[in-house]
Amino acid sequence: MSRIVVLGGGESGVGSAVLAKVKGFDVFLSDMGNISDDYKAMLEKWEIPFEQGGHSEALILNADEVIKSPGIPSTAPMVRKIEESGINVISEIEFAGRYDSAKKVCITGSNGKTTTTSLIFHLLQQAGLNVGLGGNIGKSYAYQVATESHDIYVLELSSFQLDNVYDFKADIAIITNITPDHLDRYGHNMENYVKAKFRITRNMSSDDCFIFCSDDEITINHLNQIVVKAQKLPFTQKGEVEQGAFVKNDRMIVRYKDQECDMYLQELALGGRHNIYNSMAAAIAAKAMDIDNAAIREGLATFQAVEHRLEKVLSIKDVLYINDSKATNVDAAWYALECQTRPVVWIVGGTDKGNDYSSLRPLAQEKVKAIICMGLDNRKIHDSFGDIVSEMHDVTSAQDAVQLASRLASSGDVVLLSPCCASFDLFKNYEDRGRQFKEAVRNL
Ligand code: ADP
Repeated sequence: MSRIVVLGGGESGVGSAVLAKVKGFDVFLSDMGNISDDYKAMLEKWEIPFEQGGHSEALILNADEVIKSPGIPSTAPMVRKIEESGINVISEIEFAGRYDSAKKVCITGSNGKTTTTSLIFHLLQQAGLNVGLGGNIGKSYAYQVATESHDIYVLELSSFQLDNVYDFKADIAIITNITPDHLDRYGHNMENYVKAKFRITRNMSSDDCFIFCSDDEITINHLNQIVVKAQKLPFTQKGEVEQGAFVKNDRMIVRYKDQECDMYLQELALGGRHNIYNSMAAAIAAKAMDIDNAAIREGLATFQAVEHRLEKVLSIKDVLYINDSKATNVDAAWYALECQTRPVVWIVGGTDKGNDYSSLRPLAQEKVKAIICMGLDNRKIHDSFGDIVSEMHDVTSAQDAVQLASRLASSGDVVLLSPCCASFDLFKNYEDRGRQFKEAVRNL
């Protein structure tokens, strides 16, 4: 019996281990840290042996193949040892793809993955298709392949999940956009990060579709240097395209083969310029999946925003509180500020990932009346905006941020949590930050 060792005991690793077990492998899971009680219970239920708090080489280096969870960098000492021993290291996506004949719509990009993935899932599900949602979102892809049966999967794939794919093939691949993020995992080299994203197009043939933003210079520059065999379907807010999607006279127009679908931008459920991009990408994918125009329009008009993405929390004394905790990089916050039409009290800060805030200065100057820095080290934010935003304060909790914001905001203003930064200095993760923010708003 072949032996599969899984590194990492989170959603991805446990899902992979379950699939390996179902497929009859001798499976072992190893995690350097602690495995949560839920996942331990799952491993026990499936009778999968595991260890936590360290890696036992003797139990790992006898593997025929290793599945590495996306959170573990390829530079981790254990991964290096495995590779030096000549053992194949693959990702969950690669492994699960071997056992799945469903059609796969795969989405990657720096920003907009979850929104676009959820939109496409919504469109396909509303059209009555048997579709699974997975990858970086909800239940892992591997777990679903092990325990469910779908005709189509819509998969959100981070660059980390694409790092160890080789034979996996998407039927429809989308790159929403590429802006600097996570460069610490790519040797501070943008090229490596771009290449990781483009792995989503590997193995595609001319029957497949590649959907991308032609307004995104980084995407276009790379695309011009490589061969992607899939049919190319760009989306743009600058000019028209023959195939793909564009904006004209306040309408979004999608062209796929000899069909055309259009709808007024005003009808889109999600506001903001970035969501026009996301809606266009989703609509092209839906058209390529043969969904009819009425269903696409209906789906894009009824979609409910995903939590922590420009989520309207409450309006109190005519001050609107918006939770955009998932804006963990500069580009995401740029779009959040760009779509505000009212004066903004901006809650920003956290763990800086080497941010360059200069692109935000014009928007801050135009729209932001006060900045509340919510982080342990706020020097860079003060340095970047101190000369253009006169009112700046520091806080170290969501509760203090919200209470202060409610005092600074006047009727007609917006309080926007769009932090530009990771959350790990003060919170468990971005969800925790967003929930604490919402809780504090509800307690006002
Ligand atoms: P991801 O899954 O790629 O992190 P999300 O859909 O969760 O993307 O959105 C993350 C953040 O980026 C949110 O603040 C959201 O408002 C913003 N955002 C969403 N779509 C885009 C886009 N196409 N371009 C730039 N920012 C975006």
